[in-house]
Parts: sequence; structure tokens; C-alpha cells
Amino acid sequence: MSEETIHIARTRAEVQHCIQAAREGGKRLGLVPTMGALHEGHLSLVRAAQRSCDFVVVTIFVNPAQFSPTEDFSKYPRTIDADLEALRDLGVDLVFMPDREELYPGGFSTYVLPPAVADPFEGQVRPGHFRGVATIILKLFHLLPTDVAFFGQKDYQQCQVIRQMVEDLNVPIEIQACPIIREPDGLAMSSRNRYLSPDERRRAVSLSAAVGEAVRQVQAGTTETSVITERMHDILRKAGVTKVDYAAIADATTLEVINRIDRPAVALIAAYVGATRLIDNALLTAE
Ligand code: AMP
Repeated sequence: MSEETIHIARTRAEVQHCIQAAREGGKRLGLVPTMGALHEGHLSLVRAAQRSCDFVVVTIFVNPAQFSPTEDFSKYPRTIDADLEALRDLGVDLVFMPDREELYPGGFSTYVLPPAVADPFEGQVRPGHFRGVATIILKLFHLLPTDVAFFGQKDYQQCQVIRQMVEDLNVPIEIQACPIIREPDGLAMSSRNRYLSPDERRRAVSLSAAVGEAVRQVQAGTTETSVITERMHDILRKAGVTKVDYAAIADATTLEVINRIDRPAVALIAAYVGATRLIDNALLTAE
């Protein structure tokens, strides 16, 4: 893999210089923040960015602030050569790949208090996670003042947190959420899927099956969310997925749990398959 053929910035000064130059050229700039270990889900965001922007920058940074001490920061997959090759093949204009000190130098102590939509679900199970996410994303938005930033609906709550933060803090960047990219059997692509054993991989499809069942139930006219979540739990249980952090239905914007499908809603799941924690979701629209 030759790094010469793709422009990589490693420092704040370098990336600010590149972004400034692109802005002066009057280009429409797109930003795709990632933690690397890229798969088709990430690459779909890059393609979406390339469709609507003239200059696309991808960031690769495993953000320590969004991992709790018990989580998998040091074990998070890092596949930098393959990542750069994939981004070079796509013709990405710039990759920002800072090291930890560049973004969290000694003395760093300011964090974003995330909006209320960060409180349920992931916020309950992973306290501090969205504080870390909101902080790094706001830092990236300041360092890379692009026109649009692209996020995957795979991380549905994250999208809502970022949308609300941008609104509340008057960040002049448009947020575009892109559809979930799935394996042929429905499993949502994730950097963590590589940890699944063949047996776990077979059982992991139950998450997408369960959110898919929620969609079908709503289309068939079921409105009691307890009926639907019971079906979701059933599907997970039958697949031997017993450590379920949540399998719930919530208001699609506020993420408040709802009892009836009487507004745009979302089915959300987080569950462990073996030692690997996976998430999935699907929007539910009453006919
Ligand atoms: P990550 O590297 O896991 O932080 O993800 C970077 C971006 O890619 C986030 O906006 C994710 O929501 C998005 N992403 C991850 N997996 C998928 C997927 N299967 N489909 C669409 N977007 C995804």
C-alpha cells in the first residue's frame, strides 16, 4: 500500500491548512468521521459524500473518550493499511489520522454535556459514551469546518445526539444520516462482527430478524408496542441471545419509549452475542 497516492494529514495544523485551501477553492466539503476498521457501511458514507460534495475528508481516530475503562478501546480493531487502500481506491481527497496526543494533549479537560436524547438506551448502559462522542465530533467539526457531515443510521441514537447538538450549539454543518448497510442475511455490518465465531455469527442474525419483525408487525397493523417488543425478545431468545441490554420501541426523534405506534417510531436493540456487543435498529412507520 503506498501512502503517497492518498493525502494524509496527521496534525491539526495540516488538516486545517488543507480544509482552508479547499474552502477557498469554493468547493462543497463533506466529512465522514470513523474509527477505522472500515467496511462497506463506512464506504457507503464515503460514496454518499462523494455524490453530493466536491471534496471529501475521512477521519480515522479511535476516540478514547467514548470508551469506558471496562470497554474494548485497546482491543478495538485497527486495520490502517487496508483502510487507506480502500479510501485511496475510492479517491477520497483527504484522510485525517491524528494520534491521541494531537486531539487530547496533556491538560485536556473540556467535554460536551450531550443533549437529553443521549440519556436512554446507550446512555443508560454506557454512561459517558455520548459525552465522548459529542466531544470528539464537536472537535472535528471545529477543526474541519465542512458543509455536510455523514453518519450511519446503524448508530441511530448517535445520529440523534449529533443532530440535537448541532442544533443546540448552532454548528453550521448539515448532518446527513445514511441507511444501514447489511450482510446478505441481514446482519448490520460492524467492525465488531469479525469477533463472532461461526456459531455466534449464525445467532447474530437474530438482531436484524427482530427489528425486521417489528417493521412487519407495524405494517400488519399492530399498534401495542408491548406486543411487538415481546416478539423481538422471543426471536432473540430462540437464537440463544440472552444478554439483551434493550429491545425497545421509542419515539423516532426524542427516543422516549412509547406504548403505542401513534407517531414515527424506531425499534432499537443492543445485545451480546457471546462476548461481542451488537446493535441494530429499524424505523417503524404506521401505514
Ligand atoms: P465507527 O467507525 O463505528 O465509529 O462508524 C463510523 C460511521 O460509520 C458512523 O457514522 C456509523 O454509524 C457508520 N456505520 C457503521 N456501520 C455502518 C453500517 N453497517 N451501515 C451504515 N453506516 C455504518
